[in-house]
Formats: sequence, structure tokens, C-alpha cells
Amino acid sequence: MINPFVVFAGFAFVFGTMVGSFLNVVIGRLPEGRSIVHPGSHCPHCGNPVRPYDNVPVLAWFWLLGKCRDCKTPISSLYPTIELMMGLFALLLFDHIFVNTWDFTGANLFGFLLYFCFISALVAESFIDLKYYIIPDSLSIYAAPFAIGGMWLLELWGSDMGVGWQASVLGAFFGGGTLGAIALLWLLIRKYEGMGWGDVKLLLLIGAMVGPWPALPFIFLASAVLAVCVGVPIGVLQGKGWKMALPFGPFLALATLIWLFHAQTIVGVWLPGVVVEFF
Ligand SMILES: [Zn+2]
Repeated sequence: MINPFVVFAGFAFVFGTMVGSFLNVVIGRLPEGRSIVHPGSHCPHCGNPVRPYDNVPVLAWFWLLGKCRDCKTPISSLYPTIELMMGLFALLLFDHIFVNTWDFTGANLFGFLLYFCFISALVAESFIDLKYYIIPDSLSIYAAPFAIGGMWLLELWGSDMGVGWQASVLGAFFGGGTLGAIALLWLLIRKYEGMGWGDVKLLLLIGAMVGPWPALPFIFLASAVLAVCVGVPIGVLQGKGWKMALPFGPFLALATLIWLFHAQTIVGVWLPGVVVEFF
């Protein structure tokens, strides 16, 4: 007798890797303003289209030995890495949401997709920010209404997932507002942009998904600590002195992912008695 949970978890993993494959296209094309639909995947060197049987996430990179089938130009190992990462995120999220047989409801499936879209946006945004130093609006502020709408639908559905639409609106307001005020103040005092508006718009989306309290103070603090612990040493190694060598977006994303999966543990130490569970 095969455990149905194992089968569905397998589906979730494969689904995640396929989303990861799509994110590779988004990361490569969105910042350059190219369509993410047309043309289909092709080798950037020789222009030959990727064969359907070579489009298998994670595995294809290995049987192609990391090279284009036609011109043998190396394919970045970032592609299978992102596919595998998204497969594991899908598995992790599935494991959090679907614990008992009665968890298999339409509302929970919708919740799974909503949070997986959010995680996908965070991952895509991070790699785009690392490479191009920008955060596309479509992965931040334009996604916020969908986040609020999603939270509203979950609530309407009677699901215990999510933060509710009111917390979602407040989260967007305080997420974008607090960081926006800091950015504005910095601009007025120091006369240059210390914080990108992309970060402000990203924290607006993050706020819409996690609510204002106690999520935002944690994410704000944790991302700053992570940035100092990781960004500054890299800056020093690159000979930039104490200047940050990395954009801030990936640290906001990382702190948010830590919060999504470990909020209850963090809050258990910080604010005993408070319940924070998203899924
Ligand atoms: Zn090629």
C-alpha cells in the first residue's frame, strides 16, 4: 500500500522544480524587458531551441553534462540549482500544510499556491537583484493587491491559513511606509539614495503576506543583521572597505523565508503566548 502523502509530496516536489524552471526564464528575461513566454527556451550562444526532452528540470542539466546539446557552450549550474531549490521549497511547504487527510481541502490547496507564488517571487527577486541591482515592480508592489486579495479569499473560505485581509493591508502599509520613510529621510539628510525604492516596494509586498506585527520588526532586524554579517565581509574581501557589496533585496527575502517557516519558534522565545502560524 503506497502512502498517498508520499505520492502527493512527490507531485509537490516535481511541481516545484517545474516552477523553478520557469523562474530561470523570469530571472533571465524580466529585467531585460523580454517576453517570458516567447520565444521558447533556446541556447543564448547558438540560438537552437531546447528540445522538449531536454527541458526536464534538474535532471536534464546532468545528462547534458552542463552543456548545450548543439554547440557545447556551458550552461550555468544556477539553472538546476534554482529548480532543485524550488522543488525543496514546495516539499517543505507541502509538509507544513498537509499533515492529516482532512487537510486536503480546496482552501488549503489555494493557500499552498498563494504561499508558493510568494516564495517564487522572493527567489526570483533575489537573483534578479544580485545580478542587475533592481527589483521588478511586477515581483513587488504590483503583486501586493494579489497578496491582499489572496488573504481575503482564504478568510472567506474559512481557512485558518494566512493572516487575514486586514493584517494584510496594514502589513503593506507599514512595510512600505516604514522603509519608505527611512529612504526619504536618508535622501533628505544625506542627499543620495541609500536605500533603493525597490526595497521599499518589496517590503510592501512582504508586509501584505506576513502582516505588520510581529513579522515586520523581525524581518527588518534580521535582514539588517544578515546583510552586515554577509554583505560587509564580502565587501571587505572585494576591496570595497566596509561598504556593502550586495544589494539588500536578497536579505529581505531570506529573513522573510526564515520567518515564514519558523515564526512560531522565533515568537516562542521573543513573545511567549503569542500565536503566529501562516500555514
Ligand atoms: Zn548552443
